Amino acid sequence: LKLTVLGWTSGISGPTSPQAGYMLQTDETTLLFECGAGVVAELQKQFEMTDFEAMLISHLHADHIVDVMELVVHRRYNPIWDEPGYERRLPTWAPAEAPERLAYAYAPTAAARETESLTDVFDFRTIEDGTKLTVGDIEVEVIAVQHSIECYGFRFTAGGRTLGFSSDTGPCDGVMKIARDADIFLCEATWNQSREASSHLSGREAGRIAKEAGAKRMLLTHIESWVDQDEIIGEARGAYGGEMERVEAGRAYEV
Ligand SMILES: [Zn+2]
Ligand SMILES: [Zn+2]
Repeated sequence: LKLTVLGWTSGISGPTSPQAGYMLQTDETTLLFECGAGVVAELQKQFEMTDFEAMLISHLHADHIVDVMELVVHRRYNPIWDEPGYERRLPTWAPAEAPERLAYAYAPTAAARETESLTDVFDFRTIEDGTKLTVGDIEVEVIAVQHSIECYGFRFTAGGRTLGFSSDTGPCDGVMKIARDADIFLCEATWNQSREASSHLSGREAGRIAKEAGAKRMLLTHIESWVDQDEIIGEARGAYGGEMERVEAGRAYEV
């Protein structure tokens, strides 16, 4: 199971990274999860636009979905999708409101919105707490987390290895479940400890969760691009005590 980080920033993209976006692969399966600003540009440095066979979206905040607009354009207008062996409609697992919200974002006028459904390019499937889905040989458990809006983390399993992804969350039972004994716990740490007990984690809270859940390795992500990176990484390292680092855009991690 190989994780390639396409972007790790939070509210805005930064000079060294796009917003949230990740590619997860086995020998036979490639899936994209999260698709924030800049992700499509980074994706094309290492992958083809036709390389992934499904997409998962954890929640509908802009930093996780902005570049979905670019996927619409590519899948609707690039002639490659007419060729044999290419499936234009991307299986897309997302919260229930995704089809409507994304159609509103893409349609340029109210009149256009009336006929825009995006169903020519996406095969939408609704996720909720406890949803279990399979993409190729990757199994995914969807677990609700505590954010300012409906939001889910993911637990990916393939070949006996497990990647837990917190998505955006405050401390909660869901994120503990996601991190439990994971080979890699990919965890958000948006802020430092001056803003704890909110809809995001501090570095310290992320480290505590990873430790308590017995995660074997932690990768920090979703750090605001303008905050002191070293401070947040240091908080997490201090609270966790295990092997950890902040992810880098374009880098791959073997789970
Ligand atoms: Zn976010
Ligand atoms: Zn969010």
